[in-house]
Amino acid sequence: MKRGVLERFKEYLPVTDNTPMFSLGEGDTPLVKSRYIGGEVGCEELYFKLEGCNPTGSFKDRGMVVAVAKAIEEGGTRLVCASTGNTSASAAAYGAYCGIPTTVFVPNENVAGGKLAQAITYGASILRIKGNFDAAFRLVVELTKKHPLVLVNSLNPYRLEGQKTAAFEIIEELESAPDYVFIPVGNAGNISAYWMGFKQAHQMEWTSSMPKMMGFEAEGAAAIVKGAPIEEPETIASGIRVGNPANWDKALVARDESGGAIDSVTDDEIMEAYELMARREGIFCEPASAASVAGLLKLSRNGLHLNGGKAVCIITGTGLKDPDIAYSLEPVAMDEYPAKLSAVEKALDLA
Ligand SMILES: *Cc1c(COP(=O)(O)O)cnc(C)c1O
Repeated sequence: MKRGVLERFKEYLPVTDNTPMFSLGEGDTPLVKSRYIGGEVGCEELYFKLEGCNPTGSFKDRGMVVAVAKAIEEGGTRLVCASTGNTSASAAAYGAYCGIPTTVFVPNENVAGGKLAQAITYGASILRIKGNFDAAFRLVVELTKKHPLVLVNSLNPYRLEGQKTAAFEIIEELESAPDYVFIPVGNAGNISAYWMGFKQAHQMEWTSSMPKMMGFEAEGAAAIVKGAPIEEPETIASGIRVGNPANWDKALVARDESGGAIDSVTDDEIMEAYELMARREGIFCEPASAASVAGLLKLSRNGLHLNGGKAVCIITGTGLKDPDIAYSLEPVAMDEYPAKLSAVEKALDLA
């Protein structure tokens, strides 16, 4: 049985005797070796960390389980977050499991259907805010300063503590840190959490090396790359549609200390990677996740050599979150036939 993030990594998390221990089965996600893209970019050891295999379909669960456990320990009675979708799905699930009311603030447009369906089904109260994620986030931060509500966005340090455990798992599986980690950047919590995890693992001598952290924003929401907040962030990738990342400074530290980079990818590059991942790797990820692969492809085309190195792309969420994007792809074949043997034989050239 999976032990879950709290139990498995308790020595490396802020877990005390009073922290309730529970799990919805988060963590221990697969690290899958690339069959196609690795060859295309000249990297024999390219892996995908499938964070979409977490209980609510994104990496947010790793951090949420710690944030909710600490909230209970500290007497919190109500969870709130602003969300482009996945944070709200995760908060709603752990809130439901622990019997704590959860209120989620979501932008009133462009929230991926699967994510909203989760918040509804897990029974969260949903406040649809007239504005984008950044507006909802500002509001919820202001609200939690004034009232005793538990903020479970990635400003909550326990979120990053939980999320860093993915770095531990990668080191465990590869028996050292990879040379590169490619990761999407939205509110910039996850890149910061991975870097914290790799640094801690290095200190504990689980690995003698550390990876370069390669973060990718969507071009229409590339505040860090451009060096200024974006008023109206625009991208097909809802998970990284953030114009003013809350963990901006921490992301710069991850970039600079690791000798990595933060760059951007266009929606076309994201969709190219999204389709390649599904059709050549058998991995259906959400567009935000494909940004990591799009970034790898971009840098490879621009001359980055990965020969002899190991690289991991973080596949942050499952493609089922956003079926509308999937329907926008051209099916290989999808015509209609009568339910007759001869008709389908003809269609398959088996006459
Ligand atoms: C939240 C999220 C991101 C962005 O992570 P940040 O910590 O906000 O940078 C990327 N992909 C998916 C699927 C997400 O849910």
